Amino acid sequence: MLLKLIIIGVAIFIVYKLFMGDKKKKDMQSKKATKQRVAAGEMVKDPICGTYVEKDGNIRVREGEKVHVFCSYECRDKFLKQIEATTIEKVDD
Ligand SMILES: [Zn+2]
Repeated sequence: MLLKLIIIGVAIFIVYKLFMGDKKKKDMQSKKATKQRVAAGEMVKDPICGTYVEKDGNIRVREGEKVHVFCSYECRDKFLKQIEATTIEKVDD
């Protein structure tokens, strides 16, 4: 009876380890992919929260020559408040 419990416990532990290891690997791969895409200029940093977003994402603000891309409208609004004093042009698709 006790042995059975131990075996089940070990089995659960192994499955858990495999699952977590796989997740970690995937996380690392996606981080690496993001890094490569940032280096390639395909992804840009959200200036508010620092999240990497698609360069051609549709939440964006043009500020002079620069185009800022945001992960959410919340971040865009925060950014707009920050630069309210300067001339900006919203780009809405
Ligand atoms: Zn953001």
